[in-house]
Amino acid sequence: MTRPARLKGIAASIGVAVGPARVIGRERRRLSYRRIDEETVSSELARFEQAVSKSRAEIEAARQELTQQHGSTYAPILDVYLLMHGDALLIDAISETIRNERINAEWALSRVAEHLKKPLLEDASSYFRERAHDIDHVKEHLLRHLHGEHRSEPSTEGPTVLIAHDLTPADAVHMLAPPTVGLVTEMGAGSSHTAILARTFGVPAVVGVGPLPVEIEDDEVVLVDGFSGDVTVGASPEERRAAEIRRDRFTAFLEAERSTSAVTRDGVSISVTANVELPSEVEAALENGAEGIGLYRTEFMCLDRMEPPSEDEQFEVYRRVVTAMAPKTVVFRTFDWRGDKRLRVHDLGERQRAWMKTQVKAVLRASGEGSVALMFPMVATVEEFRGARALVEQCRGELSNESASSAELPIGMMVEVPSAALLAERFAQQADFFAVGTNDLAHYTLAFDRRDSRSAARPLDPAVLRLLERTVAAATRADMPCSMCGDMAADPVGLSMALGLGYRQISVPVSVVPLARAVIRNVDLRTAAEVARDALECSSADAVRELVVDRLGAHLGALWEEQGIA
Ligand code: PEP
Ligand code: MG
Repeated sequence: MTRPARLKGIAASIGVAVGPARVIGRERRRLSYRRIDEETVSSELARFEQAVSKSRAEIEAARQELTQQHGSTYAPILDVYLLMHGDALLIDAISETIRNERINAEWALSRVAEHLKKPLLEDASSYFRERAHDIDHVKEHLLRHLHGEHRSEPSTEGPTVLIAHDLTPADAVHMLAPPTVGLVTEMGAGSSHTAILARTFGVPAVVGVGPLPVEIEDDEVVLVDGFSGDVTVGASPEERRAAEIRRDRFTAFLEAERSTSAVTRDGVSISVTANVELPSEVEAALENGAEGIGLYRTEFMCLDRMEPPSEDEQFEVYRRVVTAMAPKTVVFRTFDWRGDKRLRVHDLGERQRAWMKTQVKAVLRASGEGSVALMFPMVATVEEFRGARALVEQCRGELSNESASSAELPIGMMVEVPSAALLAERFAQQADFFAVGTNDLAHYTLAFDRRDSRSAARPLDPAVLRLLERTVAAATRADMPCSMCGDMAADPVGLSMALGLGYRQISVPVSVVPLARAVIRNVDLRTAAEVARDALECSSADAVRELVVDRLGAHLGALWEEQGIA
């Protein structure tokens, strides 16, 4: 076994962590099939029911712990697990399988769970695939209690880097507290619960590294790079020292950058807003000096539900966010279920149209409380966007019939499908603003999976750059606001390129806001524009990256070196 071993995953929570490994859940459970006779059915059912109630108690305790530490925002993440403990399709079906087929509880549990997961895993939408993991997590809890096992406890000694196959949300609440300083998981994506909770707890994390190719021993030194998604196991003393220096510098850097300005070397102000997924991030957005919320991903409030919250419930959340941010603007994006085309505006079913109207009405009501804008994701055709605007007008009419007030607000669209970028001039006549989603734009232009850990480099591909340039040029000619809210703007090289292409507004994850300002202060726009022109003639993303590092590195070098970028 060679050391150091290097793994690559998805950078899910920024920062650098250094510490001894703590591997949990290494023992893979082997499930055994056992037939039971008539007389033991009732004791098997009782054993299963006891496991359900112990598991429920464990999750309730975690929910309480989470609420005490971070308020009620995250409670729904655990509520869904509690609901699943009383779900007829899951729990009753397991009891019935034990009773009717006379098989042991573990086997029945596994059978029912696999049956429920199958259609979810086959769905095109990552939202539904993520729900299959929820079933796995509940299964994991129940199996643990059926086996009479206890949950791993956090180490009581110094800082540790947690290494796991995956964490259930209840375990994450428990395990991401100190002394855990970093997290590495085999499973997961940037939007998985584990990733969200890692960001909430401020724990640098790399998820989705895939099957661990090396047998990692407890106490081996592990380095977690939450910027690049790199994990080093069994680091040398020199590597360890270098990582510790980066970690400490980054902490100090964040402190110092909290209230700096975002003005380029040649004196142009750039607007830096934050991308937010949950209301609890608003406080950190303000602390980090964000000038507003440029992208509020509302679908996160549905992560743990079978359908979206009611209009009143949504209004309450939106109102709180808008009031906390006032007078700064909050841009709410309607629910984006990603690959699930059925939820695009133009071909909504009746049920989904009702959901969308509920949401639009809630946003319109909240618009009276501060500065609000509304935008639609995945817009691909001009008719679609016209349909979206018509829907907003219909909602406004209904609200006025209900004597509810709503203010006028800008209605914009994400530019993240190549067709929207190609016809940007036409869309610019219809929309009040553009927000460019480089994650999906790169995905749909280059036909690669956005969960691919190498995806961070892709927006720099010259094909994507040409679409980005076309979009911002059309917006500038129409004198309309155009921000970049995809993750390209969160990458210092990508951000420098965005500035060169003409973007003057960016929106980045809350934790990246200070770093983005530091990059902006080091960029000279005239040079960046020259570099961007040359980049459009390059033939690969790697060549573009090299070009940017080479030409802008003189000013940005020290900063990049510190962040381990160049
Ligand atoms: C994008 O696609 O770049 C974007 C910002 O939206 P999301 O990442 O939520 O799909
Ligand atoms: Mg998108």
